[in-house]
Amino acid sequence: MKLYNSITKSVEPFTPLENNRVRMYSCGPTVYSYQHIGNLRTYTFSDLLKRSLQFAGFRVLHAMNVTDVGHLTDDADAGEDKIERAARAAGRDAWAMTEIFKAKFFEDCAGLNILPPDIVCRATDHIAEQIAMIQKMEDKGLTYCNADGIYFDTTKFNPITDLSNMRIQASEEYSRVGTGEKRSSYDFSLWKFSPTGAKRQMEWESPWGVGFPGWHLECSAMSMKYLGETFDIHTGGIDHIPVHHTNEIIQSESVTGKTFAKFWVHAGWLSFGDSEKMSKSAGGTLLLDNILAHGYDPMAFRYLMLTAHYRGPLKFTWEALDGAATALSRIRDFLAESDLSQGNIIESYISTFREHILNDLDTPKGIATLWTLLKDNKVKKDDAARTIIEMDKVLGLRLLLHVSGKTDLEVPAEVLALLTERTALKAAKDYAGADAVRDQITALGFEVMDTPKGPALKLL
Ligand code: AMP
Ligand code: ZN
Repeated sequence: MKLYNSITKSVEPFTPLENNRVRMYSCGPTVYSYQHIGNLRTYTFSDLLKRSLQFAGFRVLHAMNVTDVGHLTDDADAGEDKIERAARAAGRDAWAMTEIFKAKFFEDCAGLNILPPDIVCRATDHIAEQIAMIQKMEDKGLTYCNADGIYFDTTKFNPITDLSNMRIQASEEYSRVGTGEKRSSYDFSLWKFSPTGAKRQMEWESPWGVGFPGWHLECSAMSMKYLGETFDIHTGGIDHIPVHHTNEIIQSESVTGKTFAKFWVHAGWLSFGDSEKMSKSAGGTLLLDNILAHGYDPMAFRYLMLTAHYRGPLKFTWEALDGAATALSRIRDFLAESDLSQGNIIESYISTFREHILNDLDTPKGIATLWTLLKDNKVKKDDAARTIIEMDKVLGLRLLLHVSGKTDLEVPAEVLALLTERTALKAAKDYAGADAVRDQITALGFEVMDTPKGPALKLL
């Protein structure tokens, strides 16, 4: 498999650090508001990556954080905590508010058939781990204290990972914000003091004073806790490259003396309407619910995202969504006329598809292969359908639901084989492996339910 690595700015061969097991971390949502379709593009990308890794035969252990404290209105340490500000503006309890937006986020993910991460971790549940990390940096003489809080002194540490490509875009970001309380513009906040005389809704005692952790710290502390000091892949949106991810690398490597993550893979930006960017601060955002309210199937939006390469920009238009919906219904119609039980996977087509996907997740070419197959008169329809369902393990368009003649009782042999594999993994106490197989079953349109009589399957 080959993947683009933002560290080297090139497509590189990917092999896991540990046998065929991939440890992957995705920067998750900041739960002060709804996630818009731009955010959801980034999570659809990490889902595509996870499915592609599984398709390549790897087991994936996937962790994602939920930022429920500390993300400032500006990534480079300026402004106010987005969560505290949103809660105050709405007169809400910050803890309850973040729970609601978190739940809505996972609901949207389920709507888009984004597989749930194996581990979901909240920043507020890991304050002790974050304080412990700051203490390690302090012991190494890498921090300083000012009126605002504790900062990392970037002049005192050179990370192992070469940041030259990540930093290229950083200077503009920093000059816009200025240094504020910092000694140097690249320094970043590790712990912020609560404002004097005011009580925040979310604040904690620390060796340095009452306050809250800097935003970058949570991802370092939690990813290393759940995936180890060095893991395989770290993902996020491109906006995270110059500041958030750069700082994650610096602080993590300063503590461990080891490379933090091998591959940094980023999703391209989704824009909407005339605005170049789609961001909550710039206004003009669109939610998945808005798309659904217009009568679209969430899979049409997923299809639309997959027609663009994950790294490139994607301009959302209603016309493009219409096109995606039409294409998807043609695929569904084709499947509805096929009998999966009579079909076999066509090796030539699936290997071409695999080649595209394993070449930096080239879904546009993968989808083009699907269409060539669908239009190939020489291929038996049931074989084509069976092959398209195989492709859907990666695409995640829930196509299995549209195959004709399939009832709850007619579970495809492949799903049954996966269920047997999952049972064996559970018996061997390989729970992460069992969960990964469960995800593969989910991707095929079935839910596994553990009953007292053993596992049962239900159509999703
Ligand atoms: P946030 O909730 O602001 O922390 O963002 C969640 C994720 O969405 C991050 O990985 C961002 O990089 C990503 N993101 C934000 N806006 C967009 C956009 N317009 N297109 C693609 N990804 C985005
Ligand atoms: Zn992060």
